Amino acid sequence: MADVTLKHVYKVYEGSVRAVNDFDLDIKDKEFIVFVGPSGCGKSTTLRMIAGLEEITAGQLYIDGELMNEVEPKNRDIAMVFQSYALYPHMTVYDNMAFGLKLRHTPKEEIDRRVKAAAEILEISELLTRKPKALSGGQRQRVALGRTIVREPKVFLLDEPLSNLDAKLRVAMRSEITKLHEKLETTFIYVTHDQTEAMTMGNRIVVMKDGFIQQVDTPITLFEDPSNLFVATFLGSPQMNIIEAELFMDGKTLKAKLNDLNNLVVEFPEIKAKQLANQRYIGQKVLLGIRPEHVKPQEGDLPVFVDVVEHLGDESILYTKMENRKEQLIIKMPFNSRIKANENIKVAFDMMHVYLFDHESHKAIMGIPHEDEIPVCINKGCLKVGAQELALDQEYEAHLLDEAFNNEVILGIKPDYISQEEIPNSLKLRAKLEFVEQKTDYQAVYFSLKGINGYFAMKVANEKEVKLGKEVELYLPYQRINVYNQEHIKLNSREIVYPNRGRAIVKSDETKLTIEVAGAKLTYPAEPEIESGEYELIFKQDKLLPLYNKKMFKQGLENPEMDNPHNKIKVSAYDEDVLGSKLLAYVEVKGFENYASFVIDNKFSVYKNPKFELYVPRDAFELKSL
Ligand code: ADP
Repeated sequence: MADVTLKHVYKVYEGSVRAVNDFDLDIKDKEFIVFVGPSGCGKSTTLRMIAGLEEITAGQLYIDGELMNEVEPKNRDIAMVFQSYALYPHMTVYDNMAFGLKLRHTPKEEIDRRVKAAAEILEISELLTRKPKALSGGQRQRVALGRTIVREPKVFLLDEPLSNLDAKLRVAMRSEITKLHEKLETTFIYVTHDQTEAMTMGNRIVVMKDGFIQQVDTPITLFEDPSNLFVATFLGSPQMNIIEAELFMDGKTLKAKLNDLNNLVVEFPEIKAKQLANQRYIGQKVLLGIRPEHVKPQEGDLPVFVDVVEHLGDESILYTKMENRKEQLIIKMPFNSRIKANENIKVAFDMMHVYLFDHESHKAIMGIPHEDEIPVCINKGCLKVGAQELALDQEYEAHLLDEAFNNEVILGIKPDYISQEEIPNSLKLRAKLEFVEQKTDYQAVYFSLKGINGYFAMKVANEKEVKLGKEVELYLPYQRINVYNQEHIKLNSREIVYPNRGRAIVKSDETKLTIEVAGAKLTYPAEPEIESGEYELIFKQDKLLPLYNKKMFKQGLENPEMDNPHNKIKVSAYDEDVLGSKLLAYVEVKGFENYASFVIDNKFSVYKNPKFELYVPRDAFELKSL
């Protein structure tokens, strides 16, 4: 048994390098999970935190439900296989494999049993008396694996174990490792930058970029339903074609224009058109994606010019150009010797396999989204969704930033988390199930909400029955609900958000207004209508400007927008929450009963700079008589 759970895990290196942000993942027992992404995206850092080789800056790591943050690597029951498999050259294969167990004073007979069993699994029994120099690269890699197998760990961590092998051997070892996973029946966590390794080996794949998880899904779902442009173009070879397009309605039909000449227009089937996330995209520029295998030569009426033809034995790759477009259109088709370079041909797009992405955010906007985005309005104790007025859980409400209230905001939830069965502590919505699209791993069910235009998606297991046309209750677990503003800044935080409230001594005369609060003396132009005395002062969450160092303070002195840069308070932060391009810093303020929270930019991290100053403009607080 080995479940591995990462809860909001962060890694911030010296100099505020944010290597891993808000990494949240449940890895199931016996699962083969792959972390994939370009170099520098934080894969190894995450693996090293699981191994205990790197300290976790914030968040929790559990193995089998036990908190591991402070547990020594050797006591985590984990084994790690690295890229370089340094074997001891003077020792035999047997001794190389037995070495770690000897250090742990494992009894001799037990060592012998384990080494022989591992050698059998890896099919290297006849090599046990050899020295490493008499082995091939693949055999050495197997011995390196053997060294970890003999320890019988609960979890295997593999960090690009095949990248030192030549291409042919890599392919062979890929299936060896998959077989090994089946035989050992333990949890495997595998890091690679190679999409083919990820797609062929993982039960589930975690795609990462810039320290953030982009998507976690089975290989097939990642391929069928990428949640953004990055995932769409990262997986698949040749990669998905991406074409700038403009959506428009022709009567009741949704169409996309691929150039300004009106000779490249494609038409969406109704079931696809209904999956457009938001009607506001009509008339807008979007990015249209189509995989090379879904462009059909000699079937349609879209004219393209063939630049280059590559024959790869069983298939042909055509590199083509569309009139008035700079993007290349790549086509993959079964071997075809008739189409030649420098020819004009006509093609069709398989419109059931066309993707659309938002031009700016690059999120998928047709089909299964990363999160459903439902427009809502939140007042104290109540949440309005279209025509429905629902009671809002108090505990959840305590985690919302001020901006979430009395504004038009967006409720975000992953289609995976919406359930037709009652779940405790969840928001109950009435919805009508409208239509379903069969996917390989699940059914994509689209529902409507009274009073809101468009459809939202949920995932339903293949074996479950779906009653279309029916009003049903849907359950959205509060734990999984996000709230965003229109700029997509998250408005729900991990910690309870108290009002930023403290006592202030106010001195007011004809020349100036002076406020003593949080151990500081703040001075502003006179406001004679305010009387001197003791007040309650409430800082707004998003109006104070952080000053992380002296340089920023000096720049502040020259910044005309800071009337008086000396108007600043000292705070001491103990945690943070990434809200997108912003950060919520949880801080202690001198003289405040509860902690305070401030929305600041996320260019820095409180984990490395826990003490900083906040500039307080006059509009950043309110005074209330006591
Ligand atoms: P990957 O394994 O995906 O290639 P890493 O986890 O090695 O990525 O690195 C993620 C980010 O953290 C990169 O920006 C890298 O430069 C940075 N980084 C890694 N190790 C350190 C370190 N010891 N000190 C500072 N920055 C580091």
